[in-house]
Amino acid sequence: MTSPQWLDSWTADDGAARVRTLFDQVFGDDGAPDGVWSAPGRVNLIGEHTDYNAGLALPVALPHRTYVALRSRTDGRVRLASAQAPDERWETTLDEVAPGVTSGWGAYVAGVAWALHEAGHQVSGFDAVVDSCVPFGAGLSSSAALECAVAVALDSVHSLGLAADDAGRADLVTACVRAENEIAGAPTGGMDQAASLRCSAGHALLLDCRPGLTPLESADRVPFDLAAAGLTLLVVDTRAEHALVDGQYAQRRAACEQAAEILGIASLREIAPEELDVALDKLGGDAEADVLRRRVRHVVTEIARTAEFAELVRAGRVTEVGPLMNASHASLRDDYEVSARELDLVVDAALGAGALGARMTGGGFGGSAIALVRAGDVDGVTAAVQAAFDDAGLTAPGFLLAPPSDPAH
Ligand code: ADP
Ligand code: MG
Repeated sequence: MTSPQWLDSWTADDGAARVRTLFDQVFGDDGAPDGVWSAPGRVNLIGEHTDYNAGLALPVALPHRTYVALRSRTDGRVRLASAQAPDERWETTLDEVAPGVTSGWGAYVAGVAWALHEAGHQVSGFDAVVDSCVPFGAGLSSSAALECAVAVALDSVHSLGLAADDAGRADLVTACVRAENEIAGAPTGGMDQAASLRCSAGHALLLDCRPGLTPLESADRVPFDLAAAGLTLLVVDTRAEHALVDGQYAQRRAACEQAAEILGIASLREIAPEELDVALDKLGGDAEADVLRRRVRHVVTEIARTAEFAELVRAGRVTEVGPLMNASHASLRDDYEVSARELDLVVDAALGAGALGARMTGGGFGGSAIALVRAGDVDGVTAAVQAAFDDAGLTAPGFLLAPPSDPAH
């Protein structure tokens, strides 16, 4: 059997040394960077495809981070290099950054400067380099890690003071979401950026995505000390190709909006679990309505599961959350139809090897799955997942451990 590939996180010193070295190579002729900033990827425990439905999500920050070394410029030029895109140096000027115009990986970076400017902040150009141990395109939010690292960097070099408290961080979240939606053109909800900027070590972030909430109302940090409970959160990057992801994601979002419109409500969050059957009846009985009904059922039941998961964790009953994870996966697979063969394979193999619960995480169609595992069972579960991939002739997956870690700083 192939031995499992572990995707280790870097120490802060290692990450900083890497980007300082790269900065020196690329932009060193003009001097040193102003500093180094970093932001984590995230893994969502439960609450999938709920953020854009004004629902609940429960992410934790990964120990895996994206590092940025940045030097402010006095003009509007932006020059970028990334160790993950060695052949794609990226350059623009800030006044050229606009929705529908800016493309490539630098859109995630320049988009943040654009969004901060749109929010009324003074932001100038910059030279920056990026390096990251967040798996790329694996549903663990390398995009938000990049945006959020840039956001705290620009906050710092321009003394905006936003990263200093949670309310300011909520403003940075808004800027990063606008960068991703409007400049990078990815219609994702706000969970990823909130997780990267507002999580805290040892905690999960219970995120309430209803619009108009104050920062205090929109996020609650729930102590999530798995080690004390003798548990480990295992993340499996399936490395599954996910073609069509963007189109499928937008379709799911559009279906939710369509259902809300038919029901005459602003968002699916307004449907209480006990009102679900009535709402489903109202959507009608033909084949198209059948699809909408299943999408709505996922969203409403997933929000309820997320609330219940958080309650169990708060009550010190984390060993009891497994069935909620399994139900979440079944709902995403059968009702929301965003799972993939590889994700189902991880879930089945992990549960078969004794995991307390397992589910796909992130947007789906590939990406990653998680399993909640007793510390003593990690090797067995990992071996079982690896063997399942070997038997199916699939590319070897990557394995990560995910103790709840620090936010962007
Ligand atoms: P995920 O966020 O799940 O990792 P996305 O498709 O949302 O996947 O984001 C991946 C994209 O983000 C990449 O294609 C690239 O454009 C950009 N990106 C993320 N991290 C980096 C990085 N370190 N260097 C360059 N681009 C990056
Ligand atoms: Mg992303």
